[in-house]
Amino acid sequence: AAKEKGRNQFHIFDPGQYAFRKERRNQLMEISRALENEEFELYFQPQLRMADCQVIAFEALIRWNHPEKGLIAPGAFLPAVANSHLEIPLGQWVLKEAIHQMNRWREAGEALAVSINISAPHLMDRKFVDYLEGYLQSHPEVSPGQITLEVLESTALEDTKRASNVLARCQSLGLQVALDDFGTGFSSLTYLRTLPVDVIKIDQSFVRNMLTDANDRAIVESVIFLAQRFDHPVLAEGVETMDHAAALRDMGCNLVQGYGIARPMPSGAVLEWLQHWRRQIESRKEIQQLQA
Ligand code: C2E
Ligand code: MG
Ligand code: MG
Ligand code: MG
Repeated sequence: AAKEKGRNQFHIFDPGQYAFRKERRNQLMEISRALENEEFELYFQPQLRMADCQVIAFEALIRWNHPEKGLIAPGAFLPAVANSHLEIPLGQWVLKEAIHQMNRWREAGEALAVSINISAPHLMDRKFVDYLEGYLQSHPEVSPGQITLEVLESTALEDTKRASNVLARCQSLGLQVALDDFGTGFSSLTYLRTLPVDVIKIDQSFVRNMLTDANDRAIVESVIFLAQRFDHPVLAEGVETMDHAAALRDMGCNLVQGYGIARPMPSGAVLEWLQHWRRQIESRKEIQQLQA
């Protein structure tokens, strides 16, 4: 056993590992500082109902406005945050800021719905629902029915009983639940069967090539079929062109999100984009054809 222990200890001093951990530690220190300096910002991407081309909600997507490096996408810093002491503080910031933003839009005359990504450890945090209720109480004009929580299939949801309880409590507050990136995890069907979810989001990795790849198309069709059998609305992500949207509509998918409609944008651009979109519904033929 001692020999084994010695061998394990050798790994701790692996220089590659050491450098990696040191870099992670530095990155976390920087993220902590960024949180204090309010360098994070939520961008928003519209989600569309094809039947009438109306925007049903905006998904909040975090960005880091780094003073030297500029705008950083979540893929470059969320992996460091995952399972660290910053995961819950950052998640709380997102939740609070998204609800704040809903209130600002409401004050400007638009009660927009927002979809918020919640990491599994954040969702499973003992205080999650209490905090959520607190934020909602501090913004009584914001309707909980306008909020969707997007949760990923992941190992932290393995305690499906507890996850189901938490999600059901959120639903009883009036919120909606979406299962994000559906099909990319190992237990998609188990989650579909056990978690109380309202909306299924088909992952963009299946949608992107579905017009040329028969396998991807088969997966997209099957997920739509499955969602319909469970009476869940289904939203396709990664809709990069109007051809994608039209094909999805023909397969029975009625909600879409992607660069083909709009890229994620700063909160300050949303109201103007919405006005522009509403004018386009009236005038642009390829948008009108979606409704057909
Ligand atoms: P997600 O929740 O699946 O969000 C969709 C991602 O796809 C976003 O990337 C969005 O910008 C991108 N996307 C949307 N339409 C298209 C398209 O047509 N083509 C392509 N190629 N990409 C498209 P983003 O903003 O980089 O976020 C990546 C992931 O980071 C998100 O995936 C989500 O899992 C996570 N994330 C982002 N913001 C938050 C947050 O506030 N909290 C948590 N916990 N996770 C977040
Ligand atoms: Mg999402
Ligand atoms: Mg997704
Ligand atoms: Mg994703």
